[in-house]
Amino acid sequence: MIRRLYQGIPGAPDRSEPCAAELRTAAPVCHPERQDQACHPERPRAQRWGVEGSAFASPFVPSPFVPQSLQFIADGDELHEECGVVAIHKHPAAAHQAYLALYALQHRGQESAGIATADGAHLANIKGMGLVSEIFTDDVLAKLPGQMAIGHTRYSTTGDSALLNAQPIRVESTKGLIAIAHNGNLVNLGNLRARLERDGAYFQTTSDSEIIVQLIAHSSAATLVDAIADSLSQLEGAFSIVMMTRDRIFAARDPRGFRPLSMGRMKNPNGPSAGPDTIVFASESCAFDLLRAEFLRDVLPGEIVMVSEDGVTSRQYASGLPQSSCVFEHVYFARPDSRIFGRWVQESRDQMGRQLARESGVAADVVVPVPDSGVTAALGYAEEARLPFRFGLIRNHYVGRTFIEPEQRVRDFGVRLKLNPVHNLLAGKRVILIDDSIIRGTTSRKIVRMVRGAGATEVHLRISCPPTISPCFYGVDTPSKRDLIAANNSVEGIRQFIEADSLAYLSLEGLLKSVQDEKKTGYCTACYTGNYPTQWVDVEEILPAAATL
Ligand code: SF4
Repeated sequence: MIRRLYQGIPGAPDRSEPCAAELRTAAPVCHPERQDQACHPERPRAQRWGVEGSAFASPFVPSPFVPQSLQFIADGDELHEECGVVAIHKHPAAAHQAYLALYALQHRGQESAGIATADGAHLANIKGMGLVSEIFTDDVLAKLPGQMAIGHTRYSTTGDSALLNAQPIRVESTKGLIAIAHNGNLVNLGNLRARLERDGAYFQTTSDSEIIVQLIAHSSAATLVDAIADSLSQLEGAFSIVMMTRDRIFAARDPRGFRPLSMGRMKNPNGPSAGPDTIVFASESCAFDLLRAEFLRDVLPGEIVMVSEDGVTSRQYASGLPQSSCVFEHVYFARPDSRIFGRWVQESRDQMGRQLARESGVAADVVVPVPDSGVTAALGYAEEARLPFRFGLIRNHYVGRTFIEPEQRVRDFGVRLKLNPVHNLLAGKRVILIDDSIIRGTTSRKIVRMVRGAGATEVHLRISCPPTISPCFYGVDTPSKRDLIAANNSVEGIRQFIEADSLAYLSLEGLLKSVQDEKKTGYCTACYTGNYPTQWVDVEEILPAAATL
């Protein structure tokens, strides 16, 4: 049965916590979410919204100060990262460690970030709009004392984008003070929220995380860990969460294991007699490398791990559901230097490229990746096809903060600012371009034109996953089905639209073969098949374009 997914209810501003910019400066600055409030009414609206280079450029306002990464959102032809979470237990500089881990996870969300710390008695929480390095200066980190920390970096997939919904969220509950950060999307939160409100819950935000905290607060279970287990078992959808009280850290994954979450350890530099090791959790294991932490294991689907002064304990709060880990993490989201779902992402992408070459080889002179996420698959393709691999497109990594004139944006400057062709590598060549997805098709067409404009005689586009035909409801920001080019066109129709000489996608069987190993991990492939692992989807989102005419 298909039912309508909850869409979000506007919440009230949380005025209980200062934002990073307020802590950083004595000058009055405005909260984006307070712009309709009596917040510095003496300033004109434009001034209230933008401070160049600060954490307060709003994604809702057509401002030249809006980060470029957000301006690309307006292009609507790229999928956006979900969120990244981290947790640190027992480290003398826990906030700094959380900062480093979030820095490594910045690719999972560039819209807002936050860190909460606990020192055994108090729980501090600071969050802001923007990149991790912009928000957490040394001065701000100095205001986060304690040996425990959780952190979050966010690209909004539910709720609105304001600071109001940035995480961690800190809530005083019947079970004590709790801070929580969450990656993924719940699909039954409408029902849960309505029931909680009937029971007297008052929501401060529109984020999924607050639903989880309210469920814990309203649970009749006697202990906190029982209340967490009770609450998580009522949730449907994707969630990898980290949670902190004044003296404990919790980490948990949903029973299907949609999103990754790994556990690691930093050995006490003064030896075991000097105290316990530091236990860390992160969405991706690449964060452990920056912390010099060793990877221990993944948090299991349906598992809660608790870390306290007494050590690490684990509890399986749910079991029996088939694993549905997001295969798109291997295709695109996760960093290739991460190990997720028990497997190196680099290895998966290499296999995808090799399989793609076996399935849809074509006579050509050179293999060129669309950087950055197409690089590893292109290396595999080139090796398998015995063709030279060349960086024929160069990505400008600094474009994210570039000032762009509004007229330039109108003229679709985005792709040309981000990518530039290397003319001498492409001129006169038959080029195989490797990319990881085609969403609306407009960006792919610009790239094909760019390569041809640099002198390529043929452009063959190869995609390292199957056609994206259905939206995601589990934390990946995909457009509606009516806007997905592959949901409404044949491969030949897409080829004509993007103006390539040939186009081929990796088969579903080929993709699953590429990410499989002896562990026999179960994967969600709903965006390629339309077969959702959960019952709840949004009926409007899955209508094809023809049905809307
Ligand atoms: S629908 Fe696609 S993007 Fe979403 S969880 Fe499933 S595989 Fe991942």
